[in-house]
Amino acid sequence: VKRVVVVGSGIAGTAAALAASTRSARVTLLLGRPGATVLASGALDRVPWETGGQERPIDRDARAILDALDAYALPDGDGDGEDDRGVVLATTAGLVRPARACDRALLDLSSMAGVVLVPRFDHPAWDGTTLARTWGDARWATEHGVTFASAPAQLTRFTDERALPDADIAARHDEPDRLSWLADRLAEALRALPRRPCAILLPAWLGIVRARARELTARVGLPCGEALTGAGGPSGLRFERARDRALGAARIEVLADRALRAARGPDGEWKVELESGDSIVADSVVLATGGFVGGGLEYSPAGSVLAAALPPAARPLARATLDAPVTLVARQHPVETPSSLSGSPPESHAWPYVEDSLLDHLGVSTEPTGHVAGAPDGLFAAGELVADRPRTWLDALEGGVRAGLSAAT
Ligand SMILES: Cc1cc2nc3c(=O)[nH]c(=O)nc-3n(C[C@H](O)[C@H](O)[C@H](O)COP(=O)(O)OP(=O)(O)OC[C@H]3O[C@@H](n4cnc5c(N)ncnc54)[C@H](O)[C@@H]3O)c2cc1C
Repeated sequence: VKRVVVVGSGIAGTAAALAASTRSARVTLLLGRPGATVLASGALDRVPWETGGQERPIDRDARAILDALDAYALPDGDGDGEDDRGVVLATTAGLVRPARACDRALLDLSSMAGVVLVPRFDHPAWDGTTLARTWGDARWATEHGVTFASAPAQLTRFTDERALPDADIAARHDEPDRLSWLADRLAEALRALPRRPCAILLPAWLGIVRARARELTARVGLPCGEALTGAGGPSGLRFERARDRALGAARIEVLADRALRAARGPDGEWKVELESGDSIVADSVVLATGGFVGGGLEYSPAGSVLAAALPPAARPLARATLDAPVTLVARQHPVETPSSLSGSPPESHAWPYVEDSLLDHLGVSTEPTGHVAGAPDGLFAAGELVADRPRTWLDALEGGVRAGLSAAT
C-alpha cells in the first residue's frame, strides 16, 4: 500500500486525496488554512469564462470526484459526449455568464424559457429592481428570450438580517423551519403575480451545511436558486462541509497542520516536516498548496524587504513557501533573479496593469503526470501552485486528480 501525503485542502488537494484513495493508497491530508477555493464563487470554470469557450466536457475521473463531493450540479452528459452543455449563471454584479458546472445552490439559467422572478425587498446588498433590469439587458438574455421581472417579497425575517453578510443568512436557511418560512414568502409573492414565472433568482442565502436549492424548489414548485456572488460567499463554506464529508467517507486521515519542508531521504522515502514539530514519512507527496491566495507562492522580490532599506541581495520575484525541491517557472522559463537590487516595478507583473501577467503564469514546473519537473521520484504538484495553467476551479480539480492517481501508483 502506497503512503501518500497531500499538502493543502483546496480543491486540488481534496481531489488528489480522494483520487489516491480510490487506488487504495493510505492518504494523509494536511489541512492548512482556507485558500482560493473557499473564496471562490461557486462557478466551476476550466478556463477564465471571459476568454470564451469552456473547451471539452468534464472527464470521468473528475466527475467521480465531483460525485464524491455531492455538492455540484453537472450539466447533462456522461463526460465523453457533446451533450455536456455547461451552465449559465447570473452574477450579483449584473452579468449573465457561462460556466462548465456550478455549486448546486446556484440557479442554472441555461434551460429557462420565460420570465425569471427577482424578489424585491429591503436589503443593502440586493437591489432587485436594478438586478432584474441589468440581467434582462445581458446579451445572453436577449438572445435566448429570457426576461427578468422584480416583484415584492418579504425575505428578511429579523431586523439584524439587513446588516448580516450572505453567509450568515445562508446558515439560517439550513434550519428546516426557516426554509419553510422562505418558501411561504415566495409562494405569497407568486400569488400576487398575474403570470407564473419560470424560476426564482435569490441572494446567496441557500444553506451552508448543504445547498438548500432543491428542497426550496420542491416546496415552492418552481426552480429556485442563488445568484453568483463575489469573493467569500457561502459557496466556499459549502465546499468545506462537502470536502469534510467526502474525506470522512473515504477514511482519509486529516491533520490540522501545515508542512514546512518535504525532502526525500537516501532510502527513497519522503519525510514531511510539520509546523507542530511532528513529521510524516511517505512514498509520495502531492503539493497542493495553492498560489498567491492559498499561500503556496509568495511575492518576495528583494525590494519588498523594507520600504526604506537597501536590499542586501537581488532576489527572484516570488518563491514557493514550502521548502521542497521545486523550480519556479513562468512561460516555461525559470524565474530569473533580476540584475537590479530593487527588481522591477510590481505593477509590471500583475493584472489589471498588464494583461496575461507574469504572476498569472508563475508556479512550479510539472510534467503531464503532475510529477514535479527535475525532482526525485514521488513528488507531485497540482492546482494554482503549478505554472502556466489557468487559475480555475476545474483546472485545479483535474490537476489534483492526475497528481493523486500518479502518487498512488
Ligand atoms: C475570489 C476568487 C474567485 C474565484 N472565482 C472563480 C470562478 O468563478 N471560477 C473558477 O473556475 N475559479 C475561480 N477562482 C479560482 C479557483 O477558486 C482556484 O483556482 C482554485 O480554487 C485553486 O485551488 P487550489 O486547491 O489549487 O488552491 P487553494 O484553494 O488556494 O488551496 C491551497 C491550500 O493549501 C494550503 N496550504 C498552503 N501552504 C500550506 C502548507 N505549507 N501546509 C499545509 N497546507 C498549506 C492552504 O492553506 C489552502 O488550504 C476564484 C478564486 C478566487 C480567489
